[in-house]
Amino acid sequence: MSFNDGLGFSNSYYLATAHQAATHPALAGEAEADLVVVGGGCTGLAAALYAARRGLSAVVLEGGRVGWGASGRNGGLIIPGLRKSAGDLVRVYGAERAKALLELAFQARDLVVDLIAEVGIDCDLKTTGHFLGAIKASDPRWMEAEARCLTDVIGYPHARFLSSVEARAVVDTPYHGGLFDEGGGHLHPLNYTLGLARAAVAAGVTIHENTKVTKVQNGARVRVETDAGVVTARHAVLAGDALLEGVAPAVHSAIMPVANYIVATASLADPRALIPGDAAVSDSRFVVNYYRLTADGRMLFGGGERYTPAAPADIAAFVRPYLEAVFPALRSAALPYAWGGLVSVTQTRLPHVGRQGEVWFAHGYSGMGVVLSTLAGKLLVDAIAGETDQFDLFAAVAPPPFPGGVALRGPLHVLGMLWYALRDRL
Ligand SMILES: Cc1cc2nc3c(=O)[nH]c(=O)nc-3n(C[C@H](O)[C@H](O)[C@H](O)COP(=O)(O)OP(=O)(O)OC[C@H]3O[C@@H](n4cnc5c(N)ncnc54)[C@H](O)[C@@H]3O)c2cc1C
Repeated sequence: MSFNDGLGFSNSYYLATAHQAATHPALAGEAEADLVVVGGGCTGLAAALYAARRGLSAVVLEGGRVGWGASGRNGGLIIPGLRKSAGDLVRVYGAERAKALLELAFQARDLVVDLIAEVGIDCDLKTTGHFLGAIKASDPRWMEAEARCLTDVIGYPHARFLSSVEARAVVDTPYHGGLFDEGGGHLHPLNYTLGLARAAVAAGVTIHENTKVTKVQNGARVRVETDAGVVTARHAVLAGDALLEGVAPAVHSAIMPVANYIVATASLADPRALIPGDAAVSDSRFVVNYYRLTADGRMLFGGGERYTPAAPADIAAFVRPYLEAVFPALRSAALPYAWGGLVSVTQTRLPHVGRQGEVWFAHGYSGMGVVLSTLAGKLLVDAIAGETDQFDLFAAVAPPPFPGGVALRGPLHVLGMLWYALRDRL
């Protein structure tokens, strides 16, 4: 996929530790199905899997390889909820709607944990919690209020505020305290995605890799074209997220691709000295630092964003200062793996879920897609089957397109993002 090239995936820890997986032939010629899915990441594979479980024939068209998008290259942090705080959701949508939205989002974590157990996906799953570290001295005020809102208004009892002293037992770096959510954790995202693909195929799904969709035509039957073939289907799901590019500009203009970078160290002598309870950790910066340990005891660390399409010439050197600022003990540590990917963000940081005729879509999880993507794929198919409650909840809060659409969202949004990134530095 052109847009995803140059982000160093060939040098990713995930590719180096991926389980052996089947390859899938490219589409050639014409095919028919009940559902055609564009994109072989977790959104698309979950849609296809749950469609097949409902007895629908499903075909997935993936432009690259399964899991080569964000699903196979992300930080692997399971962060329960949405990218908007419970407090903000209550302020904007009222308590009842905020509760319904968050209850749905929290289901994503259980859906993924249960699916991993049910179909037997070996992906280093750890249900060790997620800690959000407070960067600013003023953060504890809103974090304590957030913990209270989650418990009292949303009815979610799993998150609590930790003081700076308590936080130090979670991670060996100074924070002004933070929010610990027992529902969080982490996993190996590429092995999860490959496992999802295996489960989908076992349920009867057909996958075509190296099959880039060039045109999607809505109608009584949706027609999806590639250079070498056509699939016609009753319904289509667009699951290309940040990589969807020109196929559906009207849909795609609600999301903004932002490049984000990750490194992994060599296995550490004493990884638990840094994160004793093996939690997933992120912080309250606008340009978030996020990190966790891998199953073989490495520090896997994401930090730094770029708003230009070109990747830094040396990704490890680009991320290193962020890593060393959090863990001085890792100064000069070897960084054998370094890669990047495209995160899709929306203006409101809520997912963009919706439909145009029989073309359904879900994307823009704004850095929270490790578990939300599987949920979104499922709820699209539930809606296609007539169970629209969950779909309606998200569709009703669909974020607006970026001003200026696909052409102008870049420059305008970049200005905004740079402003917030600058505030982090100040
Ligand atoms: C560096 C990075 C770190 C992240 N860290 C985290 C994290 O720690 N926790 C978290 O919750 N979220 C994280 N995210 C976000 C998360 O990875 C995504 O939200 C999620 O993976 C999106 O899944 P998806 O299936 O919708 O899209 P993707 O996984 O990107 O899949 C889309 C697929 O569609 C294919 N495609 C696109 N267009 C076409 C076309 N025209 N024809 C055919 N195929 C097409 C692509 O090749 C791709 O494989 C991170 C993202 C990145 C990039």
